[in-house]
Amino acid sequence: MSNRKIVTITKGHGQHWVGDGFPVRSMFSYGSDAGISPFLLLDYAGPADFKPSDKPRGVEQHPHRGFETVTIVYDGEVEHRDTAGNSGKIGAGDVQWMTAARGILHEEMHSAEFTRKGGILEMVQLWVNLPARDKMSAPKYQEIVNKNIPVVEFEGGSLRVIAGDFNEVKGAAETFTPVYLYDIRLQKNAELKLPVVNGFNAMLLVLSGSVQVGDKMLNAAELAVFDVDGDVISLKAHNDAKVLFLSGEPINEPVVGAGPFVMNTEAEIHQAFSDFRAGRLQ
Ligand code: MN
Repeated sequence: MSNRKIVTITKGHGQHWVGDGFPVRSMFSYGSDAGISPFLLLDYAGPADFKPSDKPRGVEQHPHRGFETVTIVYDGEVEHRDTAGNSGKIGAGDVQWMTAARGILHEEMHSAEFTRKGGILEMVQLWVNLPARDKMSAPKYQEIVNKNIPVVEFEGGSLRVIAGDFNEVKGAAETFTPVYLYDIRLQKNAELKLPVVNGFNAMLLVLSGSVQVGDKMLNAAELAVFDVDGDVISLKAHNDAKVLFLSGEPINEPVVGAGPFVMNTEAEIHQAFSDFRAGRLQ
């Protein structure tokens, strides 16, 4: 067993609004960070307190092509509707794994009830790349509710296996390439060893509390990117902590993206825009 080391700790690239529903910190994106494939982008929304309203909030209909969007809700409730005919409402503990692949249009809004009542919204949206062979496959939608996500309990904490596996417990999501996604809760002083495949990229986002890795301390709203060498990441909670772990096999292909499209070549991006304008993404 050899321990992975942290290469960088980032607080992300500043805050902005996605539509009028999601105040996000962009923790990484494919344009500016290395060592993150197969992940393309991670937006951390909130926690933000929304006042009751009668006006729907969120992001109006927009396209995607070439990858998957994964939405993990920690607090609040959001609704999705897309042109592949899929729709769903997810709340705290639920995950939506939406494969845009060759293309969809969708809207992402606060649920009607959450809008009316108001409350705390906290969620993560992760973009997972698809290998070239799957970029133009059929769109797909996995609504993964809390009760269908396996939970592994250990001394001082718990780990929900959203994707991949952990100690032979298989995760809930189907993925195109090997991806590991764990929602981890640690009580103060709890220790955890996360197995990680040598050569796969790995990151850790702390949502609340603080966690020690080696001689480094990770605090709330900080993301650590790890070196690719080593097969274990050892954590110790400095206080009660909520952590998202991401790992995956890098997709060693060119990444060319523009706005909501991520493909392998400029020509494919031009094609995506022209297909969108011609109404072919639905
Ligand atoms: Mn979207």
